[in-house]
Parts: sequence; structure tokens; C-alpha cells
Amino acid sequence: MTNCLYNEDAYLHSFTARVMEAVSLADGRFDIVLDRTAFFPEQGGQTADTGTLNGEVRVLDAQIRDGIVHHLCDAPLPVGEAVRGELDFERRFSHMQQHTGEHILSGICAAAYGCRNVGFHLSDHIVTVDYDKPLTPDMLDELEERANRAVWANLPVRCWYPTREEAERLEYRSKKEIADRLRIVSIPGVDDCACCAPHVRATGEVGLIKIMSAARYKGGVRLTILCGRRTLLAVRTGLRRLDALCRKMTCGEEELTQVLEKRDAELREAKLRAAQLEGELLCREADDARKRGERLLRVGGADMQAMLRAVDRLSGGADLAGVFAGNDEAGYTFCLTGGQGLKEAFAAFRTAVGAQGGGDAQLIRGRCAAPWQAIASFFENVQGA
Ligand SMILES: [Zn+2]
Repeated sequence: MTNCLYNEDAYLHSFTARVMEAVSLADGRFDIVLDRTAFFPEQGGQTADTGTLNGEVRVLDAQIRDGIVHHLCDAPLPVGEAVRGELDFERRFSHMQQHTGEHILSGICAAAYGCRNVGFHLSDHIVTVDYDKPLTPDMLDELEERANRAVWANLPVRCWYPTREEAERLEYRSKKEIADRLRIVSIPGVDDCACCAPHVRATGEVGLIKIMSAARYKGGVRLTILCGRRTLLAVRTGLRRLDALCRKMTCGEEELTQVLEKRDAELREAKLRAAQLEGELLCREADDARKRGERLLRVGGADMQAMLRAVDRLSGGADLAGVFAGNDEAGYTFCLTGGQGLKEAFAAFRTAVGAQGGGDAQLIRGRCAAPWQAIASFFENVQGA
């Protein structure tokens, strides 16, 4: 069994140990076992510590199996040699902040709302906590408020091993039955929880606890949270984005929603006006084409309402006519109208150019991928007949 130094001292970031085993793995990494270690292996939803051995061998990951910690490294080390381990402690300390923050939230959540913590995930980028009951926005605000008050109270965080008698008397949160020695993380008045991970020594070190989002999850809720420096970085990034947005909209933060709503309304209005003008233009084109004796009109793009008005004008209420919008590459949307025989004409058109669509005796709408030349020659033939 590896002597796990992180159990006794979460702040130990440099240590000496002896290499017990060094095995080359198929993926190119080396599995190194030491007699003792400060590297916390992946467990309980938390990713492993990283760092170096002897300053040059990088510890990329750590896994625990049957009480033995396996350091997955990028280079080998001679068995029997004494080595110096060095953790990436900034990263580890962030993990400690996140994890203690999670205990504070979950302890308060259990006491206040009877929620059980049924999931936890802590990595370099994200911390999520799952509870078995849904929480309203008001409950979340209250939870966040109380959690931060526990931070400001700077309460001691104690990791300890109760005796069997102490454990029987103690009420504590636990996700699963613990086979090994029971380790409890206690925050007075806030939480007692069975946990194997390193924690900060006082709640003040957690820094600001922020619930970033809440989503329904398996009948309960999944919270994404940030603590400590991660919160600082998120606030900094968020405020910079907000500032950039305000400068773009030339307004203050408090007016932003109003300004965006106004822009939105103006845009809708402008689109409507553009569609009307487009419709009028298309009708004029249809009138001109009809005067030239043409019953077929091709436009780059138009909305269907405008096309319907235009095809009506082109037809004069009697002749077979078609308005097509699009191009040979993207294909065409079209509408056809005409007097008697529209259905037959469309059936012939469908066969000739492979069009798709449908409608009634007065109007057909559809799409086709045929080249313009094929469409135009079909109409010439129909009108010539
Ligand atoms: Zn824990």
C-alpha cells in the first residue's frame, strides 16, 4: 500500500520517496509506483494531481488500485532510486478550493432542503454537483448566500478518522458505503461528510462560491459551480465581454437589454418593409414581363408571399404562369398558377424537370433542382403548343 501523504497534509507539495516499480505501458507512458506520495489519484469524481518527479519526469495522471497509487509518467525512473516529487500546487489548491466549496454547498443544501448529493465531478475546467431534488431560483440564491456566509465565517475544516464508536454516534453525509478507513471532513455547523480528498484548512480559503448555472437532471438538479480563483477569472472574463458588448451598442450595462430590444424591433420592422418593397418590385417586373408576352419570371431570391402576388399578375388570372426564385447551383423554389389544366401542366412539368411540390387547381408551390434552361424550354413548349 502506498503511504498517501495527502491524507495527513493537504498542503504538502514537495516530498521525497523511493521508486518501487516502473513499468513501460503500451500507450508510451510509464507506470511508476512510489513507497509514498503526495499526488492525489483520481477518485471520488476528482481528477488526479499533476507535477514532476526529479524535476524532469512529468506526472500526467495518477490512479489508485488496491491502495497502490500508480503515477502515469512521460519517462521511466530506476527502481530503488530516491526521487523528489513536486506537485503542480496551484492546480491542486484550486481543486481544494472547489472541493471544500462543494462540501459547504452540499451540507447547507442537505440541512435546508433535504437534498442528497448524488453526483460530483471536478476537473480542470468544470465542477458539477447533482442533487436529487429540484431547486427554485430563490432556493439557489439562498443556498449561495448561506454558503458564502460560511466562507466569511472562516470556519476550520478538519479531516479526521473517527473510531468505530465515534462513527456510530456521528451523523454524516456519505455517497456510498466506505470499505476502507472512514475519513470525515467536518466544517462545524455546516457539514460532516465522508471524503478522501484534500481540503483547505479553513473555509475562508475557498474564496467566493458562485453557482454559475442550474439545469434539470434526473428528477433533480445539476449545478455548475466555481470557487476561489476560478470565480475571479470567470467574473473578469464575463465583465470584459459585457463591456465589449456595451461599447458595441454604445450604452451602459443597465440599458443593454432595453437597447437590444429596441434594435430587435427596428430590425423586424426593416425586414417587413424590405419584404413589402421586394413584393412591389416583383409585381412590377411581373407586369412588364406580361406586357412582353412572357409568362415565366426568374428572380434571384424572394419571399413566397411576394412570389404569390407576382405570379397572379403574370398570369392575368387565366394563363399558365410561373415565378421561380433561386439559381442553378442552389435550385429554385417556384409557384405556378393558371386557368384550367394547371394540374396537368404541373404533372408534365414534374416529369420534364423532376420538380417536387403540390397545391390545388389554382396554385402549385414547389422546388426543383433542374437548370434554368430546362425550365425555360418546358414553358416555351407549353406556350407554343
Ligand atoms: Zn468530498
